[in-house]
Amino acid sequence: MSAPAQSGLYIVATPIGNLGDLSRRAEETLARADIILVEDTRVTGKLLNHIGKKSKMMVYNDHKSAADRDAILDAVRCKIVALVSDAGTPLISDPGYKLVRDAQAAGLYVTTIPGPSAAIAALTLSGLPSDRFLFEGFLPSKTKARSESLTALKTLNASLIFYENGSRLGAMLADSLAVLGDRKAAVVREITKRFEEAVSGSLSELATRYAAEKPKGEIVVIIGPPGAPEAASEADIEAALREALVRLPASKAAGEVAKAFNTDRKALYELANRWKSEK
Ligand code: SAM
Repeated sequence: MSAPAQSGLYIVATPIGNLGDLSRRAEETLARADIILVEDTRVTGKLLNHIGKKSKMMVYNDHKSAADRDAILDAVRCKIVALVSDAGTPLISDPGYKLVRDAQAAGLYVTTIPGPSAAIAALTLSGLPSDRFLFEGFLPSKTKARSESLTALKTLNASLIFYENGSRLGAMLADSLAVLGDRKAAVVREITKRFEEAVSGSLSELATRYAAEKPKGEIVVIIGPPGAPEAASEADIEAALREALVRLPASKAAGEVAKAFNTDRKALYELANRWKSEK
């Protein structure tokens, strides 16, 4: 598909910094749109200037009333209506979800022109596992609420993606360290712009660095999944066996501890019998 011919709602991703990332389909759709729903007319106005078009803009956000959305849906029935956000992919920590939901419920044509999103771009630059990830967006700004949100993510075996800003970054990293432990992480900043950088380190290193420094620009924080549990030491296994022997006969104690530590049951059974004979 190239330029849209059909009336409907077109979700259009726009660049997150470098205007060269506007796709041809996105440009054609914006040029052809009867109405462009925007967060801020000044921001999207610059993008439209860049492509030399003057489509009609209308401010939209998810706080608009159901009646406002119904009026937009009336337009979607017979016009090409594009939805953009200030930058990146609409709906991703940006407005649009309620409109898409209502348009689909009304049986209207809805399609997407995919493109940049800071979350995915940052994940690819983080050097952290990208096979499983969870996008959390912005955490709450107060420590108590932020720690509660982090606690809910603690056991997930996935990389975690957060949007942040420079003034809260140090506190966010300190809370993440306290709740999640000293995981690997990356602070990815100003993606596709002149001062793009990805700073990797442990959460303790990054929390120390950004306690002192408030970086400028737009920021995504990626925190790696929990590491594999540390291998138990011989002393840990022996202590568990001694404790189990207080409650259980040698064969059962050896079986229980072997299962818990994923180790050899026979060797533990022999050890338990040796201790018994040494008494
Ligand atoms: N919908 C957008 C997207 O798909 O990327 C995200 C919108 S959200 C309101 C804005 C946040 O995204 C910023 O505060 C920042 O955390 C992140 N962000 C946007 N552009 C970025 C960039 N070029 N580099 C790093 N982070 C960026």
